[in-house]
Amino acid sequence: AKKEGGNTQRYFDVQMLKDFNARHALENDLRHALENNELKLYYQPLVGLSDGRVNGFEALMRWDSPTRGLVSPADFIPLAEETGLIRSIGAWALKRACLDAADWREDVGVSVNISACQFRDQSILLDVAAALGVSNLRPSRLELEITESVMLYNTEDTIAILEKLRHIGVKIAMDDFGTGYSSLAYLTKFAFDKVKIDRAFVKGVAENPDCLAIIRAITGLCESLNIPTTAEGVETEDQLQWLRAERCDSVQGYLLGRPKPLEAVEKILACDGKR
Ligand code: C2E
Ligand code: CA
Ligand code: CA
Ligand code: CA
Repeated sequence: AKKEGGNTQRYFDVQMLKDFNARHALENDLRHALENNELKLYYQPLVGLSDGRVNGFEALMRWDSPTRGLVSPADFIPLAEETGLIRSIGAWALKRACLDAADWREDVGVSVNISACQFRDQSILLDVAAALGVSNLRPSRLELEITESVMLYNTEDTIAILEKLRHIGVKIAMDDFGTGYSSLAYLTKFAFDKVKIDRAFVKGVAENPDCLAIIRAITGLCESLNIPTTAEGVETEDQLQWLRAERCDSVQGYLLGRPKPLEAVEKILACDGKR
């Protein structure tokens, strides 16, 4: 038994080394992804429930690696955050999204996800200003999606930055609403332009009374605070009907359209409203 224990110990050391090397290799590749043009933005439509029209697209990053294939943001955004690479990648995403959106219909906006660490200093302000400047996009067509973790870090400094962004004219959405501990409290600290109801609640809305209760609470709250809501992760017609009944303002999910490359946006907008 003792010998076995020893082997187990060694096995874990080898595994740790392998993990470490794999991570290191991933980090190295990611470092070059931006300069090698391997990062792409995919776009997923947001559809207004009152008129059924597309009112915006969320930019979702993809890494098209020649050696790894299409890497999910869940696999490289956390690493980019830990290594600080997110600053250059994030600045690129803002610029790319604004340039792309500048060619779309005037009433269609673009939403960009921003990591908490992009709020560690004022550089987000410079990045947003640069993106708007180079694209000439009307600031109100750009929406930044932030999660509770942004507010967690240093609430006062973050709010000061959010106020400045608001002054520039961009919109601020609270993403993944309901999953954190203090989402509610943050609604009183900053006047968000939108609340995005997390997919976890939408998933169960049709069959789980608890999910429905939470969605009802969120939409009720947001209605009294005058904050429009978007439900994420809508996959079925059933869910859509429930969300309509709960008076969500807009919906997003595979039912309405999957995230797709920029070329698809033009086609989506060309037939939008003609359904
Ligand atoms: P998120 O901001 O919550 O984005 C929504 C995620 O749900 C996306 O995953 C999207 O593809 C997925 N999704 C949309 N509709 C459905 C649906 O009907 N069903 C299901 N099962 N999933 C759906 P994705 O593209 O893999 O992105 C994952 C996360 O990575 C995002 O979560 C966001 O936190 C982060 N991320 C993506 N792009 C960026 C970026 O440019 N910058 C930063 N900082 N984070 C990003
Ligand atoms: Ca998002
Ligand atoms: Ca989300
Ligand atoms: Ca999320």
